[in-house]
Amino acid sequence: MDRRSFSKLLASLALAKKTNIGAAVLKEKITIIGGGIIGLSIGYQLSKAGIEITLIEKDFLGAHASGSSFSWINASYDKKPLSYNYLARLGITSYHQLQEELNLDIKWGGSLEWFKTKKSSDQLRDQVRLLQNYQDALAIQIINHDQASKLESFVNFKNSQTIAYSIHEGAMNTLSTIKKLSEGIKNNGGKVIYPVEFKKLEYRGNNLESIKTSDGEIKTNQVIFACGVNTDNILSSKMMSPSTPGIILTTKPQRPLINRIIVAPGIHIHQQNDGRIIIGEQGGAGMLHEERLIKKPRYFPNHDYEKKHQNRILKTVKEIIPKLNDLEVERTTIGWRPLPKDGKPIIGPIKELPGVYIAVMHSGISLAAIIGTLVKEEILEARTNKLLEDFRPSRFT
Ligand SMILES: Cc1cc2nc3c(=O)[nH]c(=O)nc-3n(C[C@H](O)[C@H](O)[C@H](O)COP(=O)(O)OP(=O)(O)OC[C@H]3O[C@@H](n4cnc5c(N)ncnc54)[C@H](O)[C@@H]3O)c2cc1C
Repeated sequence: MDRRSFSKLLASLALAKKTNIGAAVLKEKITIIGGGIIGLSIGYQLSKAGIEITLIEKDFLGAHASGSSFSWINASYDKKPLSYNYLARLGITSYHQLQEELNLDIKWGGSLEWFKTKKSSDQLRDQVRLLQNYQDALAIQIINHDQASKLESFVNFKNSQTIAYSIHEGAMNTLSTIKKLSEGIKNNGGKVIYPVEFKKLEYRGNNLESIKTSDGEIKTNQVIFACGVNTDNILSSKMMSPSTPGIILTTKPQRPLINRIIVAPGIHIHQQNDGRIIIGEQGGAGMLHEERLIKKPRYFPNHDYEKKHQNRILKTVKEIIPKLNDLEVERTTIGWRPLPKDGKPIIGPIKELPGVYIAVMHSGISLAAIIGTLVKEEILEARTNKLLEDFRPSRFT
């Protein structure tokens, strides 16, 4: 979709079509499966609108991708075409609102990204040009080494002259947001219960009547699945690619050294408001690990192994920010990314399963705030939102 047709699309939003998505759910009970950032954000918005919601989680809140994420809120290069980039930019705006409402711990200031090789740097320039075409050209710019050093004086930008500066981005303390959303749901009269595992949908004719869980039956006529990597498994669908792992280190608090998200060759780094440095690796696991990774481990097999990974990552950090030379790691996580097959979010009702709606995406931290609001509107106001048109599950059937 090009820029002009997208503007037309936005202009027509007010004409969004009435559907029967939400017609029968008003004043009824909605159940959300999944206590990650997506389920909690949707649950918060629905409960705020006065709906009686029950959210169930099989492990604990933030146990999977959300609790082991790098927590960067962005609208950058992988978010294409324009409809996806626009959704992500609305995501950033929505976080500003939600931050005010729930006093969220988000640090804004933008991101600085660069690469080692000329080929990757040229690609970055092309990507920036494309994004400038989508939005205000000043929101993302190419800056040089000196300009970047003025913004982040402790960062070694090596000899790079091609640095992309995205000014509106930020990074969140996701664990704290998860806690606040869950408290918000409970303050609004909703239930958040775990460990409780979804097992089965129960229909009478075409009407969803209840679900079976590991803790008994829940009466409900609208279920929202926000199950991350478990989506295909639960719905017997084929919408997801195999998940890939990422290691995230959280250090003990340090004095303030970095203001922005640093996306350097091989490594991502940001510093939370509480002083903790969050570090993520860009590359995936090597082939040698594949066999062990089949079972999607969330922990390292032993402490030595964990230490080896930590040391490798910290060595790269030191090259990029020499002052970070004596970091003490507080927490190391292995997270598994939910990856829709075509890279774009999957959001909407499942036609074949009345009363079932799903929300699963790769950049769930960036998108959670806007998705919570849009899904609430679709379900309660019984209309389809054209902003979500490119992201329907029906594209896989
Ligand atoms: C290493 C890493 C770095 C990342 N960095 C970023 C980033 O910087 N920015 C960004 O935007 N995104 C990032 N992501 C992606 C982001 O973390 C995810 O897109 C997001 O967390 C997905 O949220 P979710 O709620 O859909 O899934 P999850 O957080 O995985 O939550 C789904 C929940 O559903 C529960 N569940 C599953 N099946 C059942 C069942 N049968 N019954 C009950 N509960 C069930 C699970 O236990 C789980 O807790 C990263 C991911 C990883 C792994």
